[in-house]
Amino acid sequence: KPIRIDGVLTAVISKMMVSVRKKGLELECDLPEDLPKVFADSDKMEQVFQNILSNAIKYTPEGGRIFVKAENLGSQVQVSIRDTGIGIPKEDLPRIFERFYRVDKTRSRQLGGTGLGLSIAREIVLAHEGEIKVESELGQGTEVIIKLPAIVV
Ligand code: ATP
Ligand code: MG
Repeated sequence: KPIRIDGVLTAVISKMMVSVRKKGLELECDLPEDLPKVFADSDKMEQVFQNILSNAIKYTPEGGRIFVKAENLGSQVQVSIRDTGIGIPKEDLPRIFERFYRVDKTRSRQLGGTGLGLSIAREIVLAHEGEIKVESELGQGTEVIIKLPAIVV
């Protein structure tokens, strides 16, 4: 079904604002009005962004920032979720989409979770013929970039 990805993002963000504020984080949002629609299941897309945004919240210390941005790339719509959190070590980056994979046991035990969030997100994005990648700098922050095929009319 053709859906507006900015609508999905707005819904997820409003559900998660309580935890954003609780943690003293700043969330900035850049969603253009005139994005092309994408052919997607909105519940599944909500789950994708909920998983990624919950990581940004969980792995960003108090006072940090989260940026949510959507862009029209022509044949694709790109969504970027960036944080100023703890980052991911280079050697772990290739494995973070694996089921149950979590970066180092000490941080994982402290922060809780099963290591499924990103693998589920990736599965859903690929089922929509989209792309997902993660860029990260340890101690600096993380950016998750998702591209979905746009419905160009
Ligand atoms: P779950 O999502 O199942 O509750 P999880 O968050 O540990 O558990 P994933 O969401 O799959 O699992 O993420 C895998 C690992 O990648 C995490 O354990 C974490 O170490 C790292 N990671 C994911 N997102 C971020 C982020 N924004 N900043 C820093 N590390 C991250
Ligand atoms: Mg997670």
